[in-house]
Order: sequence, then structure tokens, then C-alpha cells
Amino acid sequence: MTTKNRQILLVSRPTGEPTPDNFRMIESELSRPGKGQMLLRSIYLSLDPYMRGRMNAGKSYAPPVEIGQVMEGRAVAEVVESNAPGYQQGDVVFAPMGWQEFAVSDGQGVRKLDPAPRPLSYALGILGMPGMTAYTGLLNIGQPKPGETLVVAAASGAVGSVVGQIGHLKGCRVIGIAGGPDKCLFVKDELGFECLDHREPNLASRLEAACPKGIDIYFENVSGAVFDAVLPLLNNFARIPVCGLIAHYNATELPPGPDRVPLVMHQILVKRLTFRGFIVWDFASQMPQFLAEMSAWLREGRLKYKEDITDGLENAPRELIGLLRGENFGKKIIRVGEEVH
Ligand code: NDP
Repeated sequence: MTTKNRQILLVSRPTGEPTPDNFRMIESELSRPGKGQMLLRSIYLSLDPYMRGRMNAGKSYAPPVEIGQVMEGRAVAEVVESNAPGYQQGDVVFAPMGWQEFAVSDGQGVRKLDPAPRPLSYALGILGMPGMTAYTGLLNIGQPKPGETLVVAAASGAVGSVVGQIGHLKGCRVIGIAGGPDKCLFVKDELGFECLDHREPNLASRLEAACPKGIDIYFENVSGAVFDAVLPLLNNFARIPVCGLIAHYNATELPPGPDRVPLVMHQILVKRLTFRGFIVWDFASQMPQFLAEMSAWLREGRLKYKEDITDGLENAPRELIGLLRGENFGKKIIRVGEEVH
């Protein structure tokens, strides 16, 4: 077995869009697990938009990655050596590995995947954090009812594709918004709901035409120009799960222009809108229900999921930068090592 570990460190904080210089790959000596510990080998690493926030100084809803530390990330991993109670060599686990090939763990934040989903990478997507975000945010806050109109942004992505399909299963009329003709075609043909391209001109008028009865639920993944198009179309008592604002993650200052707070507040008041921000772990207690229902929908072929898998840990910085530009097509995953058979 190898005695080396490849790791990617955060070595500087980005101003605006991250660059490859913010990261450095190093090779270090592999640590051995001590008493109560285990050695984990990464198989699939999840890349997610929240990682951009961890690159900034200062606390958000979670502390930042410190300069010189291994970048934060969650992975599907194999236990290669174990002195930890309850874990054996060969177990497949979900673990907060960070951007590295191996990690010594005391079991904190680790969850055994038993039975492991197939494909294994689904534990990072539709049967993991993004799937749970879609499920809990839509059902608890969006509260979809048959016949209602649901609009979801980043509709071909890890969260949005699941939101749209669950909305469809619940009897809503679903309109997705995505970037580019290929993503829109995929949403229509494979996921089975309508889709508008936000990169084409006149999004506001196209969305108005697509929503003749207004919008009852807007699942907010992006903000920016998409939110501007949605706001005037919201119906009385519309629900807006505020899940993500990816259009602003690289911003260094507020956008120019007039102060729009009075406009937004006026809409909230006169239409009695419910905006509720949430972080997926607010609904942690719903994990068993989420896993049971989502697994059943997948087994029955009622949900589809697209993954965008890139080989090689060394490509993680480039792929995270691309994710924030909309270059991913489906749930972004890095294949770090061989699967277990
Ligand atoms: P995706 O797989 O959807 O990838 C990100 C997508 O965002 C891109 O592909 C792109 O899609 C879209 N995008 C990027 N920039 C813009 C822009 N300026 N305007 C419009 N769309 C843009 O990512 P996830 O599904 O993992 O995440 C979606 C959102 O959900 C993110 O905001 C994320 O932070 C949030 N999130 C929140 C969680 C929570 O607990 N609250 C948990 C998980 C995710 P396209 O090309 O179609 O525009």
C-alpha cells in the first residue's frame, strides 16, 4: 500500500472568482490510525457551491477553512484500516474527508453506508445532502399542492433537478430555469418539466408567458436576474424557500443601481409572501423519511439523476471554479480513487 497522501490546501483567499492559485496540491506522509481511529480512502468527492463560502474569512453559518488547511469536502470512502469501534476494513462510509486521498478519522461525522447505494456516488447527490435539501426545502417550506405553479432555478443541477421532479410528483405545474439549450433540453426530455434558458434575452416576459396563473412557489437557488424575473409574478401567499444565492457567491460588493429593498418589502407585504431561508441540517431529523421515500421513488423509476463526474483529485480546483460559472451539467463529483467491488 502507498505511504503517500495527496492533499489540496487552501493557500489564499479569493477576491471575486476563485483562481487555481488559491489552491495547492501537496504530497505528505500517510498518517497511521491510532487507538479508536481508522484510515479512510476517498473514492468520490462531492463538489458543492457552499465551498465558495468556506474560502472567505469570517464565519457564515459555518466557520471558514483556514489558510494552509486541507479544503473542506464530503466524500464516499472505504475503510482501509480500523481501530475504531463499529468499523471494519472494507466498510463503505460517508465521511468529511476534505480534498485529499486519505484521512485518519475518529468517526466524527462518519456514517456507514449499509447498504451502500448504487451507484455509490448517489450518497453525495440524490440520496445525500443535495437530495435532502430539495426534499426538505420543498416539502416543509414550499408546501406544494396539486395544480400550483412551481418555479425552480438551476433546474438541471444537483438540487434543482430533484425539486422540479418532486414538485411534478406532487401535481404541480413546474417551470425550470437553466443556463443553455442542452440543459433546458435535458430538463424537458429527461426530467419531464418545462424549462426556460436564462442566458437568452427577455427572461421576464418569457417567464410571464409560461406562468399564466402566476407563481405559487419559487425555490430560490440563484437570485440575481432570475429572482428579478420571478418577483412580479409571485401570487398572494406564495412560498419562497431560500436555498442558495449562487449568482452572488463571487461578488465583492453590492450590485449598482437604486436601493430595491422598498420594492421587495412592498411585494412581501401586499402579497403576504413567505420567504424562509434554510440550511439542510435544520431538517436533520427528517433524514430517515427522506432516505426511505427518495429510495422508493428511485426504485420505481419515478426520479432521474444526472451526475457530472471528473477523474482525478488534482482537477478539483478547476471543477469548483467551473461549477460557480455554470459549467457543470448535473451533480458535480470528483472520482478520487477506485471503487470497491
Ligand atoms: P448545481 O449542481 O445546480 O450547480 C450550480 C448551478 O448554478 C450551475 O450549474 C448554474 O446552472 C447555476 N448558476 C451559477 N451561476 C448562476 C447565475 N449567475 N445565474 C443563474 N444560475 C447560475 O448546484 P447545487 O444544486 O449543488 O446547488 C444549487 C444551489 O443550492 C446553490 O445556490 C447552493 O448554494 C444551494 N444549496 C443550499 C443548501 C442549503 O442547505 N441551503 C444545500 C445545498 C445547496 P445553470 O447553468 O443552469 O445556470
